[in-house]
Amino acid sequence: MYTGKADADEKLAKVKFEIDKEAHITIEKARCLACREKPCIPACPAGNYTWNDEKNELGYNYEGCLECGTCRFICDREAISWSFPRGGFGVVYRWG
Ligand code: SF4
Repeated sequence: MYTGKADADEKLAKVKFEIDKEAHITIEKARCLACREKPCIPACPAGNYTWNDEKNELGYNYEGCLECGTCRFICDREAISWSFPRGGFGVVYRWG
C-alpha cells in the first residue's frame, strides 16, 4: 500500500539502469532559452533537469530517466527530444 514519499523513495531505490552511451534525450538550446517557465524541472519525477546559471543552459541526466515521458509532453516549446532508449538499455523496474 502506498503511504507517501518514503514508499516512493524505497521503490525508486530498487530501480536500476542499463546505461546506453547514446543519449535518448536531447535539448534544442535556442528553444529552451526562449522558455521562461522551464516546466520540465519540477515535473520530472527523477529530478533529471536542472538549470545551470554558469552555462546558461538546461542540464539533464538522461542516465537516470524513469521513461515516464512527462518531459516530452510538458515542454510546449518542443525543445526536448525524447525517445525510448535502444533495446536492452534504460530503466529496469523491480517490484516488491
Ligand atoms: Fe524525467 Fe520522465 Fe522525462 Fe525521464 S521521461 S527525464 S523521468 S520527466
